[in-house]
Amino acid sequence: MSFMDYLGFDRSAGLYASNSQEDFLNHNWQDKNSVIRIEQLEAVLRDTAPASIVSEIRDGLKKVGMSIRLNPYMMDLIDWRNAETDPIRRQFLPMLSELEPDHPCMSVDSLEERNTSPAPNLVHRYPDKVLFLVTSVCPVYCQYCTRSYAVGQDTEKVRKDNVTSANGWAAALEYIRSNPTIEDVVVSGGDIARLKPANIKALGHALLDIEHVRRIRFATKSVSVLPMKFLTDEAWFSAIVEVAQRGRQMFKSVFVHTHFNHPREVTPLVEKAMRRLFSEGIHVRNQAVLLRGVNDDPETLIELTKKLGRVNIQPYYVYSCDMVLGTEHFRVRVPEMQRLEREVRGATAGFNTPLFIVDAPGGGGKRDVHSYEYRDDKYGISGYRSPSVDPNRMFYHFDPLRELEAGARAEWRAPGGREAILQRLGILRPESVAAE
Ligand SMILES: *Cc1c(COP(=O)(O)O)cnc(C)c1O
Ligand code: SF4
Repeated sequence: MSFMDYLGFDRSAGLYASNSQEDFLNHNWQDKNSVIRIEQLEAVLRDTAPASIVSEIRDGLKKVGMSIRLNPYMMDLIDWRNAETDPIRRQFLPMLSELEPDHPCMSVDSLEERNTSPAPNLVHRYPDKVLFLVTSVCPVYCQYCTRSYAVGQDTEKVRKDNVTSANGWAAALEYIRSNPTIEDVVVSGGDIARLKPANIKALGHALLDIEHVRRIRFATKSVSVLPMKFLTDEAWFSAIVEVAQRGRQMFKSVFVHTHFNHPREVTPLVEKAMRRLFSEGIHVRNQAVLLRGVNDDPETLIELTKKLGRVNIQPYYVYSCDMVLGTEHFRVRVPEMQRLEREVRGATAGFNTPLFIVDAPGGGGKRDVHSYEYRDDKYGISGYRSPSVDPNRMFYHFDPLRELEAGARAEWRAPGGREAILQRLGILRPESVAAE
C-alpha cells in the first residue's frame, strides 16, 4: 500500500507534507504535534486557510464549553478549502458564525451525572451497569461532548471538575466490588487512549477479579481519530489484548467502544488498526452522535453504517446531541431523528443497524427515539418514560428552538418564558427540568 492509500488522503498536499511518513504514522508524534492553542492553529493554517476562518474559530472558542485539541491526522482529514461546511472541522473547531444561543433548558451537566455518583468518578444510574470515568483527557476534543463539564481544559465559559487519576480509583472499585448487581462496567472518561498501559492492566485485572462483573467496555475514540495508536503503541495495545484475553478465558467479555460520526473518518488506516484488533478477537462497537451539518442526512448515515460494517465495527447507537453549553447548532429535532432512523433501518444487516437514542435530560438514560409517550409539537417537547431508572417520572427532551415556529420560539426566549411554558403545559415537576 502506498502512503496515500493508508490515510485515505494525499498527505503530500496536506498541512504536514514536510514531516516524514514515519513521524506521521507514529502515535506519539501525532499527540505531541496536536493543535491545542489558537496560535498553533493559526501557524499551521497560515498558507492554507483564509485568516477569517481562524478568527471565526478564535471568537467561537470564547462561547463554548470545550477546549480544542486536534492532531495532524485529523487536521489533514479536514478539507480546508471548504472549511466552513466541512463535517470534520465542524465537530472539533467551533466557528462563531455557526453558533446559536443555548436552549433555555440547557445545562452544563445535562444528564445530571454528578447527581448519580455514589463514588468519585463513578456514575450508577441503571441497575446492573456503571460508568467509570477514569480520565478527563482525550486524544482530541469534540465540541459536542456531553461531559464537557469535566473533560478537556477550562474554557472562558466552563471551569472543569477535578481531574481524575489512577490514585482516585480505589473507592469506585470498592463500590463495584460491594454491589453484586453490577455486571457491566463502562470504562470511559475522557478516553483510555490517554491511560498508561500499566493502569489499563491494573484496572482491567481488578475489574475481572470481581466475580459479578461479566462485561467490560473500554471506551476510546482513538480507533477513529488516532488509529496509529493501535499500530505503533505496542505497550498500550498489548495491555488491552492482555485484559481481553484473560477476560475470554474467564468467559467475560472485554469490548472496545468507539466513536465515528462521519464516513470520511473510516480511512484505510482505520481498517489497518481494525485488522489488528479483529485478529486478536477484540470486538469494537460504535456510538455515533447525530450532529446537524455533520451527519444529519440519510446518505451520510447509511454510508457511515456500511463503512463501519466493512471494517468489522458494529454500529451500536446514534445518540441525539445532548443539551450542553454551545451545542445548540448541532441539535436535531426528534421527528427528524425518527425520519433518519427509518431511512437507515433496512439499508444493511439488522445487527449492523444502530439504535437511535435520546439520552433523556435529567438522567432518564437512553431511550429509543420513537418511544416517547408525550409530544408537544408547538414547543418541541418529547416525554420519555424510563422505568428501570425511575418508574414514576417522565423525562423530557427539547427540540432546538430554530425548528419551532416564530411565536413559540419567542415565548421560550422571553424572560421567565421557560417557567411559563412548563407550568402552563402542567407536565413538569421542577426537578425534571435541568436547571442552569
Ligand atoms: C450509557 C451509559 C451506560 C451504558 O448504557 P448501554 O445502553 O448499556 O450502552 C451505563 N451507565 C451510564 C450512566 C450511561 O450513561
Ligand atoms: S472523545 Fe468522547 S469524552 Fe473525549 S471529548 Fe470527544 S466526546 Fe468527549
